[in-house]
Amino acid sequence: MLKIDDQKCNACGLCEKTCPFGAIAVDEGLARSDENCTLCGACVNVCPQGAMAIERKQASPEELAQYEGVYVWAECDLNDGKLSPKRVVYELLSQGRLLADKLGQELVAVALGDGRLAGLESLCEYGADRVLRCEHELLGAYSTDGFTNVLSAVIAGNKPSVLLYGATPNGRDLAPRIAARLRLGLTADCTGLNIDEQGQLVQTRPAFGGNIMASIIAPYSRPQTATVRPNVFTAAGPDPLRPKVVVDVAVTLNKAAVRTKVVEETVLGGGEGESLESATVIVAAGLGCRQGGGLALAGELAKVLGGVLAASRPMVEAGLMPVTRQVGQSGTTVGPELYIAVGVSGAIQHLVGMSSAKTVVAINKDPEAPIFKVADLGIVGDAQEIIPKLIEDIQRQQADA
Ligand SMILES: Cc1cc2nc3c(=O)[nH]c(=O)nc-3n(C[C@H](O)[C@H](O)[C@H](O)COP(=O)(O)OP(=O)(O)OC[C@H]3O[C@@H](n4cnc5c(N)ncnc54)[C@H](O)[C@@H]3O)c2cc1C
Repeated sequence: MLKIDDQKCNACGLCEKTCPFGAIAVDEGLARSDENCTLCGACVNVCPQGAMAIERKQASPEELAQYEGVYVWAECDLNDGKLSPKRVVYELLSQGRLLADKLGQELVAVALGDGRLAGLESLCEYGADRVLRCEHELLGAYSTDGFTNVLSAVIAGNKPSVLLYGATPNGRDLAPRIAARLRLGLTADCTGLNIDEQGQLVQTRPAFGGNIMASIIAPYSRPQTATVRPNVFTAAGPDPLRPKVVVDVAVTLNKAAVRTKVVEETVLGGGEGESLESATVIVAAGLGCRQGGGLALAGELAKVLGGVLAASRPMVEAGLMPVTRQVGQSGTTVGPELYIAVGVSGAIQHLVGMSSAKTVVAINKDPEAPIFKVADLGIVGDAQEIIPKLIEDIQRQQADA
């Protein structure tokens, strides 16, 4: 329940302005809540006097069973003046569809934005039964306060059983805020999601430096929330025949509740060329490329193939490549059509970042290197001898084509 300390409340009215449900009124010099309160916690966050607190008891199995549905936060990016869903949302919907079918529940995408929200029907083509469109002028650019207030209100009001986010920069910011506000468990950077016999979400992720895969459940709170990096799941193809249901949700959001101001709108791209996340061809240079011009050769191979040069963590730590090019557990998760690992041993922390690659080619002088266990094609030998021959051969074929 929401507790208001009469001694501390000075009737400033900020809670009344912030409450997304109109559940608080300041009357006779004190704030009071009514039955519309969903315990979303927005008032607790803004109260300058620290006069509001939420007291919760542990939910019973019967209460947990009231939570139904798999929800996906449909994060949108600004492209050509439109706010359209990011690729990771489609990946999450494909996996979410499997989870929802196992539970026999609906799959719902929740999109937040301003009047530029577009392309939301496509979320239904990728598996959503419904899309909740939360439109407000203060949601045009991501803000922690604005998005936390609105999404936590939607979640508190709809009571889903599962809530998934892409582990993007904004997803990594939003998911823990919602979890803290609604007192939920959260598993970050999941590499697998499933439903067990009790209907619980089993969240799998590497733990202890990637040496074990941990299966995590949240038996005492709902929704069960998880983030998943882009490229961990593959988006199934769209089904244009699926019904398209986009429902508008009334949004209450006060300027006073959003403490950050966007000075300049996000502009995608620029600077470092194609991003690793969306690259279709990646050449990854490991420590085996450190000497004798190996890195330059790997870069040349990437260029000839029209791909992107990436690296293992030690190459980044050695200052030879920027951190934005690191593949792996503490770097980026990639899912290209072709991944060429040059002088990469294949440590588990590297493999978790590229296991979604369609075709893996490994070049390594150690025939026992673990990378060969995940490679579709392996070349045993010195990269400095092999890469020039490969480049020559590719260029000859390109000239003949
Ligand atoms: C918490 C944690 C997080 C981590 N996160 C990441 C991460 O995100 N990404 C990541 O990559 N690592 C990560 N690591 C480090 C990881 O454990 C490995 O140490 C790292 O991946 C090894 O990099 P490497 O394969 O380039 O180097 P090495 O393991 O040293 O392998 C070099 C390979 O090059 C081969 N080689 C040498 N010379 C040649 C040559 N001339 N031609 C062909 N082959 C040659 C060798 O046979 C060897 O197999 C993490 C570790 C921890 C503990």
